[in-house]
Amino acid sequence: MKSEFKKDDCVTLHIEDIGTGGEGIGKADGFTFFVKDAIVGDVIEAKIMKLKKNYGYARLMKVLTPSKDRVEPKCPVARQCGGCQIQEMRYEAQLAFKQKMVQNNLERIGGLSDFEMYPVIGMETPYAYRNKAQFPVGEDKDGNIVIGFYAGRTHHIVEQTDCCIGAPENGEVLRKVKAYMQKNQIRPYNEEHHSGIVRHILIRTGYHTKEIMVCLIINGTSIPNAEALCRQLAKISGMTSITLNVNKKQTNVILGDKILPLWGKETITDYIGDVKYQISPLSFYQVNPVQTVKLYQTALEYAQLDGNETVWDLYCGIGTISLFLAQKAKFVRGVEIVPAAIEDAKRNAQINHIENVEFFVGKAEEVLPREYEKNGVYADVIVVDPPRKGCDEMLLKTILKMQPKRVVYVSCDSATLARDLRFLCDNGYELKKVCGVDQFPQTVHVETVVGLHRKNM
Ligand code: SAH
Repeated sequence: MKSEFKKDDCVTLHIEDIGTGGEGIGKADGFTFFVKDAIVGDVIEAKIMKLKKNYGYARLMKVLTPSKDRVEPKCPVARQCGGCQIQEMRYEAQLAFKQKMVQNNLERIGGLSDFEMYPVIGMETPYAYRNKAQFPVGEDKDGNIVIGFYAGRTHHIVEQTDCCIGAPENGEVLRKVKAYMQKNQIRPYNEEHHSGIVRHILIRTGYHTKEIMVCLIINGTSIPNAEALCRQLAKISGMTSITLNVNKKQTNVILGDKILPLWGKETITDYIGDVKYQISPLSFYQVNPVQTVKLYQTALEYAQLDGNETVWDLYCGIGTISLFLAQKAKFVRGVEIVPAAIEDAKRNAQINHIENVEFFVGKAEEVLPREYEKNGVYADVIVVDPPRKGCDEMLLKTILKMQPKRVVYVSCDSATLARDLRFLCDNGYELKKVCGVDQFPQTVHVETVVGLHRKNM
């Protein structure tokens, strides 16, 4: 239909649905509008920003009647900041939204039915959960230092040093770094001119150990008066590691390869369950420690290990799932494409004295077929935890050849999960259980754990 609407018109909308990015969806005269920050049940006034043939985007101007699920966001910059998308939604409603999204994708994209869908496992306190944050540093038009987060889809920095989903200690660290920069006249990095020094501040905290790591990512190889910075930061209780990371490239990639130690250790430690991990500024590590245990416990439950199984953990990262499962399996093999992550995995196995594991560097879709065909490796259980694009088809085909009794699929994108499950279910596997785990409260992201069994078992 052709719309009568024009850009900048104001419309009244009843929000009836939610999009995958968390935006509210409402209709005016049968024409669909997407409105960021509006939630199901709201009646709102919105200004039309962009019109397409069949739909448009509008900006929330005023909530006329709030939804019963609407709450006051904890964060004063929740709307501007690109980090959170659904802070204005009651937490129970966030969980229900995530469950519906997973279920819809499995049903619509995967054509799947007949599985047990469990409620998304949420957090008791869905704030202050992130153990890692990377704050961009820049300056405003008057030359003042600004530290915060990027606004959605841009590199404009929204000032915020006390993010409510981050560690409470972050604010103090950032204020000390800012004061040090001001005092020593150290300029933030300027993306446009590739000038200035400090690009990002990375902060990591150990959930169980309370250790703190600060890493300044710099466009250079040193900073003036580093001792003064260390002296200030070391006053913060738990401070364990202060380093520099060198990144002189003109790139959006945050971290460079090189770490220069300034004070304390180069790593911090933390635990997932009983397993201890050493984490460097460059390591991949799950960001929500409270929920990660629940995620891995669910994966363990679906793997149904009794101690005699040989397990493959594909896309294993630093081997966290491998080491978690190794405590209950006969032997676990992990595969990961990033060599540094496998070095971490091996070291973590060592420091925990876990010996029934072996790690391989390479593409899962190459290592698994090779090990199966050349070396005849077997698997009772295969666990996969791929990036958003899901599993490579070659990998799924090898899984089908290997015929493990059970497959556990951990996914951060339920659309590609649905596609891959369809393939496995068309070829001898049965989808049994599906459970979301809310690793990222206040955002639209959700992790899903799925258990499949080989048919006729
Ligand atoms: N299971 C881990 C990490 C999962 S994230 C954990 O729970 O912490 C997905 C991982 O897959 C990343 O570490 C990424 O580097 C890796 N990866 C991406 N493509 C891959 C491929 N083709 N083969 C093996 N690993 C891959």
